[in-house]
Amino acid sequence: MVKPGDGYKDIPKGGLILEAGNAKNYKTGGWRTKKPILDKETCINCHRCWAFCPDSSVLSEDGDVKAEIDYDHCKGCGICAHECPVNAIEMEKE
Ligand code: SF4
Ligand code: SF4
Repeated sequence: MVKPGDGYKDIPKGGLILEAGNAKNYKTGGWRTKKPILDKETCINCHRCWAFCPDSSVLSEDGDVKAEIDYDHCKGCGICAHECPVNAIEMEKE
């Protein structure tokens, strides 16, 4: 069982997924080279970034996407910034 905080040496050999539903345990945000920065003033709360994020890293609380980005799991793909209709998300170099 991989626990939060474990390193790459703790991953099963061959990258095998032996336990279903364990993605949360891997802090894949460490792979990121660019970080999405959300401008809460410009955001119109359309939820496009939330819908398109492949890692479910745009967090929405009580129907409000202006909450937070889960940087532990955001891989910095930039899809959220690309899909934002009002350019409220900037990709910043880490
Ligand atoms: S950069 Fe990619 S992974 Fe990170 S929040 Fe945006 S869409 Fe999701
Ligand atoms: S896509 Fe842009 S405007 Fe829409 S919720 Fe996300 S940051 Fe806000």
